[in-house]
Amino acid sequence: MLERRLTALIAASITLMALAILWNVFMRHRVPVAAPVRPPVSAVPDTATHTASDTATPRPPPQPPATTTTSQGVGADTGGLSYMDALARSETRRRVRASAGVTYLNEIVAASQDSMLHRWDNRGRNPVRVYVTPGTVANFQPGFVDAIRGAFAEWGSTGVPVRFDLGGDSTNAEVTFRWRIQFEIERTGQTDLEWDQDGHILRATVTIATFDPKGRPLGVDDVRAVALHEIGHVIGLDHSPDSTDLMYAKGTIRRLSDRDVRTALLLYQLTPGSLR
Ligand SMILES: [Zn+2]
Repeated sequence: MLERRLTALIAASITLMALAILWNVFMRHRVPVAAPVRPPVSAVPDTATHTASDTATPRPPPQPPATTTTSQGVGADTGGLSYMDALARSETRRRVRASAGVTYLNEIVAASQDSMLHRWDNRGRNPVRVYVTPGTVANFQPGFVDAIRGAFAEWGSTGVPVRFDLGGDSTNAEVTFRWRIQFEIERTGQTDLEWDQDGHILRATVTIATFDPKGRPLGVDDVRAVALHEIGHVIGLDHSPDSTDLMYAKGTIRRLSDRDVRTALLLYQLTPGSLR
């Protein structure tokens, strides 16, 4: 009797053990194999150039989401500009493009090395101080000073909102006119401008010759035409590609064209500085 109980107990144990082994084997095949750990994919598109070494180099852990403000976020895409500055610059570019043909601001920006608009800042009420150096060079005539005065008056009648005060002296002048006998190259006038990083003109020096490059003496009317062109540069204009404009580099036009005036007026409606 005891022997039969033991046999039954052993049989039951063996059955249980067999069941346990079978369960184990069964479950092992059901549990999926753990997937290899992959780094989470960054939401920022990876624009870096992939090279062979990239595949062997562990990638840095993904950065936490940016917690910067909107303007800083946009700044990352606009070279450090605030959102509002980027919008303003985009609007200025649009207006310059839209004026193609009517003005030559497009050409001025395209020809400039820094893609900047340069102009005086808010000088409608506070006139720019101008000093005209007394001429001591050959062929200088007192009428040349009046010619410069007349050229400023002609620009002043256009409505360009920058005024000039010819009562400046040599120490406080922002624009200085000088005389020289002749340029070595094909020109009768030259304007050198200085501006700050915002495109605001700070100073200008205008040099006018009393003889043309061929050695012919200039008269009062010639100096007035040269001064009219150079004052265009002082205002912030560069050269027009059109020979019918006064601001054409090697022109013979002695009067402001409508395009010269429209270009200067538009320049003073726009925010100066870089358009990049
Ligand atoms: Zn010029």
